[in-house]
Amino acid sequence: MQTEKPVILCSRCLGFDSCRYNGEMIPAPFIEKLAGFCRIINICPEVEIGLGVPRKPIRIIQKKDTLKLVQSESLRDLTEKMENFSSGFLKRLNDVHGFILKYKSPSCAIHAAKYYPSMEKSPVSGKGPGFFGKAVLATFPGYPAETENRLTNFNIREHFLIKLFTFAKFHSVKKTDKAKQLVDFHSRNKLLLLAYNQKNMREMGKLVAHQKNTGLKETNKRYESLLLDSFKKNASHNSHINVIQHSLGYFSRDIKRDEVSFINNLLAEYKNRKLPLSALRMVIRSYIVRFDIDYLKSQSYFEPYPAELAEVSDSGKGRDLKHI
Ligand code: SF4
Repeated sequence: MQTEKPVILCSRCLGFDSCRYNGEMIPAPFIEKLAGFCRIINICPEVEIGLGVPRKPIRIIQKKDTLKLVQSESLRDLTEKMENFSSGFLKRLNDVHGFILKYKSPSCAIHAAKYYPSMEKSPVSGKGPGFFGKAVLATFPGYPAETENRLTNFNIREHFLIKLFTFAKFHSVKKTDKAKQLVDFHSRNKLLLLAYNQKNMREMGKLVAHQKNTGLKETNKRYESLLLDSFKKNASHNSHINVIQHSLGYFSRDIKRDEVSFINNLLAEYKNRKLPLSALRMVIRSYIVRFDIDYLKSQSYFEPYPAELAEVSDSGKGRDLKHI
């Protein structure tokens, strides 16, 4: 089966064009790197609704439950224009698997855009998504969506990549309209799903097993919703330890006691946040190769996204947000 590259929609000012209100562009090295492995499309909603570059900044004004998008100085109310553009554009957007949008932007942000009580100089009255970002979340609920600054955090970046590449693979499977492809997909992703959400993994297994009764179209629909739900939260350290121990069961009898206790020590270090998961996975992979264990070789868990995208750099940013 031909697996398509994931398609990501990005804010245009993230390395594509100097389209910010002040004529600047934000360097986005991670998006540049992703471009080798994904198809990237970009959009600047503010330019699309006819605002030039440079332009007066815009602000979200919050009055009770109503939000308005207003441009400073001219006081133009851009709410309707932006809402119409966003819903029209997103409705026409087919085959997208994820989003990387500009942090804090009153248009693009998916969280943390500032809301003000008026156009006067005043303290912030609230925070939330920008207008375009809000439309993305409503049109593509549960899809991988992040802001560029949070992707500098190792855990958030890894979670985003796992979700993005797994979801894109599932879309390719869905397009084939073949039950066998869904069976293969589920079987290859079992350990990954076990790490993320054991209950859903079992539920998805039942769906696949009974697809003849339910029909493939309905099965795919329910499977997709459980898949997205499984990735709502990042997998915990304990779940990863559970998966590694489960994998260890495939070869622990064939290795020396010293080796088993070495792996157990690594697990303890991982549990105490002294070792990254990637290092642990690498050790287990070396045994998978050594003992030629077909089942584990087939598991996406050990390489859920292209290895070239794995970086251990971590800014620590974004940990305060309970978004993952
Ligand atoms: S944040 Fe969005 S609207 Fe603002 S400049 Fe960037 S792409 Fe355009």
